Amino acid sequence: MSAAQQLLAEPRPHPVQDVPSVPVLSVDLTAVAANTRLFAEITDGALMAVVKADGFGHGAVAVARTALANGATWLGVTSLAEALALRYAGVTAPVLSWLNPVDLDAATASRHDVDLAVSSLAHLDTVALAAAVTGRSARVHLHLDTGMARDGAAPAQWARLCARARLAERCGLVRVVGVMGHLGCADRVGDACNERGRAAFDAGLEVARRSLLRPRTNHLAATAATLLDRRTHHDLSRVGAGLVGIDPTRTTVLRPALTLTAPVVSVRGVPSGTPVGYGHTHLTSRSTTLALLPIGYADGIPRTVSGAEVLLAGRRCPVVGRVSMDQVVVDVGPSPRGVRPGDVAVVFGPGDHGEPTVREWAGWSGTIENEIVTGIGARVARCWR
Ligand SMILES: *Cc1c(COP(=O)(O)O)cnc(C)c1O
Repeated sequence: MSAAQQLLAEPRPHPVQDVPSVPVLSVDLTAVAANTRLFAEITDGALMAVVKADGFGHGAVAVARTALANGATWLGVTSLAEALALRYAGVTAPVLSWLNPVDLDAATASRHDVDLAVSSLAHLDTVALAAAVTGRSARVHLHLDTGMARDGAAPAQWARLCARARLAERCGLVRVVGVMGHLGCADRVGDACNERGRAAFDAGLEVARRSLLRPRTNHLAATAATLLDRRTHHDLSRVGAGLVGIDPTRTTVLRPALTLTAPVVSVRGVPSGTPVGYGHTHLTSRSTTLALLPIGYADGIPRTVSGAEVLLAGRRCPVVGRVSMDQVVVDVGPSPRGVRPGDVAVVFGPGDHGEPTVREWAGWSGTIENEIVTGIGARVARCWR
C-alpha cells in the first residue's frame, strides 16, 4: 500500500471535530418553544407551524418537533419534498403542502397523508386522477388568491374550481377539508388591501358553501395578520417567521433563535492607508489591527453591506472591505486587546451580550430578516440546543 493509499484508508475524525473551531450556526429551540406558545395563546383557531425552507433556516424537523410540543397542531410547507422529509423523520402531525407543481406526485402525497393545496382545475385533475388510481380520496385545501396575483386560483376561476371540486368530492376522489388565502400587506395596520383581502376570502368561502363544499379548516393569516387582526384568524393560522423570532409588525418581543459564530483565522497589525479586500474599496485610516473570519457570502453573509459589525473580544468591530465568498476582514482597532487566532466572533445572535442581531444585518444589507436566516450556507456547521 502506498503512503497516499494508507492515508486515505485511515479512519479520520469528521472534519468538524478535526479542527479546533469552525463557523457554527446554533439554534436555540427554547426560543422557538417560547414563540410558539405565544402564538398558540393568541390564535383563535389552531396553529400551523410553517417550516418551509428548512424551517426558515433553523432546521425543519427540529422546529416542527419543538412547535408541535408547544401548541402547534399542523405543519405547513411549500413542496411535497419538504413534507416527505418531515414524514421520513417520523413526524405524524397533519402536514399541508402548497405551491405544488401541476404534475405533482399526488399518489405519494396521499400515501404519506400529506394534505395538498389546489389552486387550479389542472391541479385538481392531477389530484383526482391519482385518487382514482390509488383508491384513496385526497385531502385538499382549495387555494384562492386573495389579492397578491401570486399563488392561488384567480377570483374569476374560483366558482368553477369549487364546482369541480364538489363533483370530485361526490365521486369520492377528494375531500375539501379547507380553503386558504394569503394577505399581501398584513404588516400594515389599516391598509385597505387587508380589508379587500378579508372580503375576498369571505366571498370565496361563501362560493364554496354554495357549491355544497363544507370546508372546516379555513386559513388566511400568517405571522403579521395573526398578531394584528383577529378577524383573519378563522380556523387556523399559518405562522412561520414568528416562530423563529421574526416579527414583521414590530409589535411584540419575540425571541430570535439563531446565533452565528466564526473563529478568527489570523490577526495582523497594518499601517494607515492599507487597502483591504477585492477592489481596495477600503483603506485603513490609521494603523490598526485586522482580524480575518472564515465566512463570506457563500455562507450567507450579504455581499452588499454598509455599516456591518461583529462582536469580537466584547466589542463591536466593523467589517471592512468587500465581503468575499469565503472570508471577511474586521477592524479590531489600534489596540487589539489580545484578539488572537481561535477567538470566536459573534456575527449575530439574540443581542443579549451586545452582539449584532439578524435585524441589524437585514438593515445593513437592505433586506428583511427572513432573507438572512434562510440564506445561511450549507457548509456552516449547525447545532441545536
Ligand atoms: C411563508 C408562508 C406563510 C408563513 O408566513 P410568515 O409571515 O413567515 O408567518 C404563510 N402562508 C403562506 C402561503 C406562505 O407562503
